[in-house]
Amino acid sequence: MSAKSATVYLVGAGPGDPGLATVRAAELIARADVILYDRLVSQQLLAGARAGAELVYVGKEPGGHTMTQDEINGLLVAHARKGRSVVRLKGGDPFVFGRGGEEAEALAEAGVPFEVVPGVTAGIAAPAYAGIPVTHRDEASAVAFVTAHEDPAKEESALDWPALAAFPGTLVFYMGVGSLPALTAELQRHGRDAGEPAAVVERGTLPRQRTVTGTLADIAELAREARVRAPAVTIVGRVAALRERLTWLELAPLHGKRVAVTRARAQASGLAADLERLGAEVVEVPSIRIEPRLGAADVQRAMRRLAAGEFEVLCVTSPNGAGLVLAALEQEGLDARALGGVTVAAIGPGTAAALRAGGVAADLVPERSIAESLAAELVSAGVRGKHVLIARAAEARDVLPQQLGDAGAQVEVVALYETMREPLDMDRLEGLAGADYITFTSSSTVRFLLESIGGVERFPRGPRVVSIGPVTSETAREHGLTVHAEAERHDVDGLVEALLADALSPAGTA
Ligand code: SAH
Repeated sequence: MSAKSATVYLVGAGPGDPGLATVRAAELIARADVILYDRLVSQQLLAGARAGAELVYVGKEPGGHTMTQDEINGLLVAHARKGRSVVRLKGGDPFVFGRGGEEAEALAEAGVPFEVVPGVTAGIAAPAYAGIPVTHRDEASAVAFVTAHEDPAKEESALDWPALAAFPGTLVFYMGVGSLPALTAELQRHGRDAGEPAAVVERGTLPRQRTVTGTLADIAELAREARVRAPAVTIVGRVAALRERLTWLELAPLHGKRVAVTRARAQASGLAADLERLGAEVVEVPSIRIEPRLGAADVQRAMRRLAAGEFEVLCVTSPNGAGLVLAALEQEGLDARALGGVTVAAIGPGTAAALRAGGVAADLVPERSIAESLAAELVSAGVRGKHVLIARAAEARDVLPQQLGDAGAQVEVVALYETMREPLDMDRLEGLAGADYITFTSSSTVRFLLESIGGVERFPRGPRVVSIGPVTSETAREHGLTVHAEAERHDVDGLVEALLADALSPAGTA
């Protein structure tokens, strides 16, 4: 045996919603050298791994084994003995039907140190998200977690049906949905009340969670009719009826809606978080990528000239641009003070907020967040003879420099970043096709998305299109798309509002 083994962490990932992972789990994921994960583990959690960490999928596909338990145990030991910090990431709680116990035994036997990080188990979380408390002062003082196999024949000897039927409290079954008819029949055969409330929760805590409710007598048939699929848990007990009053997840206004976000990956998270808070399932389909031009000679020179007072006015035309102005100043050893004597104009509230985050309060933010409005406001404030620097994307409309130039300003433009096409992978395309909404936050997201999918003919028919403003809408229409909703305020909040209004309108709910 080699000198010293690293620790293996047996970590619960929670039931699906990445927000239900523990702080400890997130910490360990961020530090791990190797992460061995299962099928039901959230991609979002894995995204928290450090660059260079090795991610190994060891899950089981329904019907086929990817890796045997012995192989997994062997891998855990082998990695640890190489001194690598290993996270064994398992759905829900590692010690609840996750074979975590066996893995711990293998580690103990091999003399490899390990720690266990409990997780939120599906048998509690899925009912909770469905409005079903597994215990209740008046309804259930005990709860049993039971595993049942897809093949009930296999299970016959293992489960004590008379005891389960007599159990004085809630029964929660973790299982393949295929075993539902057999298990409900067994419970009734052994005397459990056929009229007892029951519920099946599919994809609990995940965006497309579904719940079917009924009684012990009819829940199997109802689940079959509803085509419930794995993963699902079944709750048998009076508490299941509380859902009628305690449902909450489904009340979120965008519950059940899938929304595609096409903006650059680096910018998507704010919009995604807002949509998720409203109950939407977000698929990120970044169609553009922002390539900053920090360090480019012209950019850095423009920053030095700004600091030297050579410009009276600075126009910033996007949140990206705002962040990059501040970063470019920093690269020159400068900070917000360089803008002390400069009138700063921001195209809209999003850009103003990004400036504000860097300690710069914009002097001017037009009512409407489009170049025309920004130009008009600057012109009416008086720009004749003034030196104006427009900091923006490499490819952008000429409206702003032109109108300011026409009004007698000395205009210079500096390109802070280039907008590049982000190649799409197949998974992302599928997400797009199944979406209820596609959001466009700029003309370039429209153009590059259509380019990526091979033209407007390939644009999916189902999703409704929501645009951040008139310029983006115009680009979409020019390319043959129908725009179903357009933001009144041309920023992320405005976009979310427009989408929400559409979803709540008769057209959106149809
Ligand atoms: N260790 C896990 C359970 C693993 S066994 C835990 O503590 O949750 C796998 C079973 O868990 C599935 O067949 C299903 O019954 C249940 N399960 C896992 N995730 C689920 C989810 N998001 N919604 C409903 N059931 C889930």
